[in-house]
Amino acid sequence: MLIGIDLGTTNSAVALWNNGAAQLVPNALGALLTPSAVSILPDGTTLVGAAALERMAAKDGATATSFKRFMGTDRKVRLGRKDFSAEDLSALVLMALRDDVTALTGERPTEAVITVPAYFNDRQRKATRRAGELAGLTVRRLINEPTAAALAFGLQDKAEREPFLVFDLGGGTFDVSIVEMFEGIVEVRASAGDNRLGGDDFNTALASAIKGRLDPGGKLATIDPARAQALLLQAAERARRALSDAAEGEFTVTVDGERLTTTVSTSEFEAQAEGLIRRLRDPVVRALRDSQIDAASLSEIVLVGGGTRMPVVRKAITRLFGRFPNSQVHPDHAVAMGAAIQGGLIARDGGLEEIRITDVCPFTLGIETAERTSRGQVQQGLFSPIIDRNTPVPVSRMGIYSTMAENQKQIEVSIYQGEAREVSGNVKLGTLKVPVPPRAEGEVNIEVRFSYDSSGLLEVDVEVPLTGAKHNLMIIDEEDRKAARDLDARRKALSALKHHPREEAANQALLARAERCFEEFLGDARAIIGDRTLAFTAALDSQDPRRIADAAATLAELLDMLEANPPL
Ligand code: ADP
Ligand code: MG
Repeated sequence: MLIGIDLGTTNSAVALWNNGAAQLVPNALGALLTPSAVSILPDGTTLVGAAALERMAAKDGATATSFKRFMGTDRKVRLGRKDFSAEDLSALVLMALRDDVTALTGERPTEAVITVPAYFNDRQRKATRRAGELAGLTVRRLINEPTAAALAFGLQDKAEREPFLVFDLGGGTFDVSIVEMFEGIVEVRASAGDNRLGGDDFNTALASAIKGRLDPGGKLATIDPARAQALLLQAAERARRALSDAAEGEFTVTVDGERLTTTVSTSEFEAQAEGLIRRLRDPVVRALRDSQIDAASLSEIVLVGGGTRMPVVRKAITRLFGRFPNSQVHPDHAVAMGAAIQGGLIARDGGLEEIRITDVCPFTLGIETAERTSRGQVQQGLFSPIIDRNTPVPVSRMGIYSTMAENQKQIEVSIYQGEAREVSGNVKLGTLKVPVPPRAEGEVNIEVRFSYDSSGLLEVDVEVPLTGAKHNLMIIDEEDRKAARDLDARRKALSALKHHPREEAANQALLARAERCFEEFLGDARAIIGDRTLAFTAALDSQDPRRIADAAATLAELLDMLEANPPL
């Protein structure tokens, strides 16, 4: 079975193509979104999703979120006694989603389409693909998130469409795409984005603005700074969501049983958000310019991502485009639905035959060169583009380069992605060393061919016409090779981790919440939480479903009451 996955920075979702329609799959808690959070319990068991998020502010600090931000890097986070890369953590999320599908259908999915931000570079894409493989899924295709959203939107009525714009503001990333549909072809004309802008940043801005007023006594300074920051950010998240539905939001943090609270008004939040809102404009302008489409001829502005639920963002969009955005697709579901549709296309599902997608390569790819200036000096480190950004994919382009020294024996081909004139401003993807016959300067040419496939993975071939030598090299850099070699061992290590049984997810989430509250409260409240938690764990040990349900209800009721109305 082939499933579609939106592997988000904040939330992930899984959908499948079923009877001619994309269907979202609920997780064990019945929710369609699963927070991209992983936690390791003291006994070494892994938790994924809402339960893991509950443990975010726990003292053991064994919870990771937003790890997609360092996908494709060497960075590791320590959870419990083990180190995890973003790839490993993503694999754990993917395993949980896979199990949700198994629970719904009784069949274990083996293949997946996974979405990635349009501007994910080669390394980030490969890491995402490996995460899928670590989770035991063959990744049939990586597709760009906005493309997936466009597919979900375009399929709503299958009508021909003027170009439309997909505006995706998630928890950590912002993505703009311009898409056109005609004669069954979905064409992404341009993509642009800011991978350092999302709902999280609004939380940070709000938290730092409110902190002083919230806590004049400096209570938060008495606890671990990382925990204090986590509590503040969680409070900011709640306040910000409240502000999506009301004119005011409560900003509340409970530290050692002491409740710090204040109210945030819409205008105050908007003032704090101003700088971030301003940053939404640039990628929009760039995408319009690259696609040579002017804003007036866009037929719709399609909103995707939880961040677009913020009224301040909707207002900014309305101002920017001079009209109201479209709210036909569900901003939280569009990407996963689109991935499932792509899955249906790959499986050549009957109902989908007429649709094809053309996507673009959202960034420029090229190599490092040197050039002789008019005064005979050599300037090193220049970027020579081979595939320009927003070129339709799959694409194959060639550049010709020549030697610059007498009897040069080798040409070093360094591959970069980015828009800067000097390579130092771009992202290095890998290096190839190509031996060449020694000749006079400039006498030996090499042909460098870049092939960029529809998953956004790059292959590089180099030919030396003089000798006919073909260096059919791929830019599998050392890191990739190492990662591939380790894949089996890592897969084993991950599946050797004890995963919390899926059917216990709701209980586990409740337990995590009880533990968080125990840490937050003091005195009598804490004693009661302790008692009821103990009763609940005893019930769990008894494995008697009636007893478990009763103890869970009693515990949940207590936590609801305390959190809504904490003792002074
Ligand atoms: P990602 O694509 O990064 O996984 P999502 O599209 O799920 O993220 O969006 C997550 C972001 O959406 C978070 O920053 C969250 O605070 C925000 N969000 C979700 N619902 C709301 C809401 N009702 N009001 C304001 N922000 C929201
Ligand atoms: Mg998203």
